[in-house]
Amino acid sequence: MKTAIIYSDELRNYDFGPGHPFRSNRFTSFLELYKERLGKNENFALVKNNELATDEELELWHTPDYIQAMKAASSGITIPSLYRFISQDNLNPITGEFPKGIEKATRIIVKNSIFALDFVQEGKSEKAVSIGGGLHHAKSNYGEGFCVYNDVVVAARYAIKKYNLERILILDTDAHAGNGTCEAFYSDRRVLFIDLHQAGIYPGTGFAQEIGEGKGKGFTVNLPLAAGTSDKSYELIFDEIILPLAEEYKPEIVIRYGGSDPHPGDEITQLGLNLDGFKMIGEKVREISGLCQNKSVDLICSGYKPDVLSTIWLALITSLSGVEVELEPPLLEVKNNQMLTETKDLIKKVKENLKPYWRSMKK
Ligand SMILES: [Zn+2]
Repeated sequence: MKTAIIYSDELRNYDFGPGHPFRSNRFTSFLELYKERLGKNENFALVKNNELATDEELELWHTPDYIQAMKAASSGITIPSLYRFISQDNLNPITGEFPKGIEKATRIIVKNSIFALDFVQEGKSEKAVSIGGGLHHAKSNYGEGFCVYNDVVVAARYAIKKYNLERILILDTDAHAGNGTCEAFYSDRRVLFIDLHQAGIYPGTGFAQEIGEGKGKGFTVNLPLAAGTSDKSYELIFDEIILPLAEEYKPEIVIRYGGSDPHPGDEITQLGLNLDGFKMIGEKVREISGLCQNKSVDLICSGYKPDVLSTIWLALITSLSGVEVELEPPLLEVKNNQMLTETKDLIKKVKENLKPYWRSMKK
């Protein structure tokens, strides 16, 4: 099997309710398109999981009191100090409550991401995709940005612990900065964290000068992009920054995450990544995975334009797997060279900041 697609029917409960941008029908819509287009393709296998991440696994990043609060709130128990643990955007906008059953669904998402890692690490598949994964905003004791538990951090720490990995490349291509993931590995060089995101939107972090601290200095790379940034800029960043860094770092595994929200049609962001740009990302990650026996894991859940989401997710997965599938560009596309000048300036600045830590950034 080339690529395992790890999915759970329980994902239907990862839903913040009517009026919220994150609804769970994204998962069923994707599954329908996946079955229609790839269901009989021997390069892919759908793997269903119903196992929950344990407290011990969650505690690789989250505090026990946060876990207890999420568990209680999700089962309908009133928590007087709920706002100490959670932001407004993790609540149902109509009822103002923490969605029932979402804690269990998030545990399953975390387990999906752990399994994705196991699959690749143990050679059960070359690539693995955790559907529902990539909940990058969750902090150790605080949930925000539609993210309850941070499966990215838990899976990476799990990999460090179980497989003694010392060099994990985490690439965040979601339109929002991965503040939770960044915080977890800010002083840890066992993870090279590279984050492409739109500048100036939620969560308001991820400036170019944030490059890590202590032993991890130089191992966090933020690439804040101007609104409208399109395919050619992303490609240039891969060629000038991401690929050279990866070659120098020599990762033992690649974890990429992020769904369709950099698409120009997205309703809560303003980037300009077209269908071809997403395919390019998949191909580049595939190329990077060549540095580590083709091992790579994708975590996918984001996107806030339902008409776009499934096609883009499929594009990311097929290009990562090196499988050609004819896909129609969903909705509008933008010019692929938007914001190229701004991107070149950013590349210069990022290289300047990273020069003391990386030979490849001196060029
Ligand atoms: Zn996002």
